[in-house]
Amino acid sequence: MVNQRMLQYGSVRSAIRDLSEYGNKRRAEIGRHDVFDYSLGNPSIPAPDKVAEELKLLAETVDPVALHGYTSAAGDVNVRKKMIRDINIRYETDLTVDDIYLTCGAASSLAITLNALTEPGDEFVAIAPFFAEYKVFTEAAGAKFVICEADTEHFMIDFDHLEEAVNENTKGIIINYPNNPTGVIPDKQCLESLAAFLEYVSKSYGHPVFLISDEPYRELNYEYKYLPYFTNLYAHTIVCYSFSKALSLPGERIGYVVVSNKFDGHEDVYAAVCGAGRAMGYVCAPSTMQRVVSQCMNVSADLEIYKKNRDILYNSLKQMGYDCTYPDGAFYLFVKSPLESADEFSELAKKYELLIVPSDSFGINGYVRLAYCVPTEMIERSLPAFQALKEEADKIIADRKH
Ligand code: PLP
Repeated sequence: MVNQRMLQYGSVRSAIRDLSEYGNKRRAEIGRHDVFDYSLGNPSIPAPDKVAEELKLLAETVDPVALHGYTSAAGDVNVRKKMIRDINIRYETDLTVDDIYLTCGAASSLAITLNALTEPGDEFVAIAPFFAEYKVFTEAAGAKFVICEADTEHFMIDFDHLEEAVNENTKGIIINYPNNPTGVIPDKQCLESLAAFLEYVSKSYGHPVFLISDEPYRELNYEYKYLPYFTNLYAHTIVCYSFSKALSLPGERIGYVVVSNKFDGHEDVYAAVCGAGRAMGYVCAPSTMQRVVSQCMNVSADLEIYKKNRDILYNSLKQMGYDCTYPDGAFYLFVKSPLESADEFSELAKKYELLIVPSDSFGINGYVRLAYCVPTEMIERSLPAFQALKEEADKIIADRKH
């Protein structure tokens, strides 16, 4: 009666959503003050003032019929011109309005890109741990989803694993730096090696292997670590960007796809992006937001707050003896589960009203993710709970040894 794959996507619940709903239940039962909810990557910092100022200005000065009307499918041409001008200045690119397609956030950017590229038999490789929806978007596009585990010491790319993961059917590799869930940005050498690897395999297979760079956290790079605009590093790149996190606008659903113009045939790839947008009903991204974000390309929410949160959480948990990955950016801390089963550890954490996500849905076992896009005072109040949780986990481990 219905598409079985869609039925499955609609019926199988995500661990993150489950935990977040459990949080709602506990808040209703014991009050919001006592629940330490690290489940969702929902920004807690207000959008910059410029967003409200632009909204007001648009409401006061633009004819409402035009303001709320359809734009062209790829986005208003003046908005695209303004965005491309800013992107070109910032990243030293020479992109044009015909290289950018406005979308409803990174999720639709990814879904559109994967549908635009997929031909029968194609495979896409994602570096684990990864944003769980990659698997859904890839399989829904009709391609095979292949997992390549990162090196678990630094969560950079493991090129031995990557060599095993790719083959002549590989159409693209999906990367996401700063990464959800680890916060890691690989070093320059690793990113340059990735570009060289892609050049090499593209040549060997006789067709391009695309780099799909998912970039909702680009601006959340606390030490300004080297992070190239990937079109400058590798020609066959497609950037999937979102304004959700840097501008704290996740519910407004606005982002873009940029197709690099540095390879032969890029016009066809862009046309396929437009075609996928059309086929999937993702035409004309929210029109007011298109105009707002185009005026906010050089501002962001007060991201220093996340940096402060990171420092408090990372330093405190390390001191308690947790094994944590140092997050260069994004707003997640990835912690090795002291118990072998991350599910068991996440369940145990609930006893201390700590809501932390087990890592299985990110394509790797044995870790938990803490989203620290929360009020700083909540982090400070939660520290004794983390201490008590660690002590109980250590006791369980000691008991099991006997
Ligand atoms: N990609 C990653 C890595 C994410 O973490 C998220 C959201 O959390 C998305 C994509 C989707 O972002 P958007 O809200 O812009 O659709």
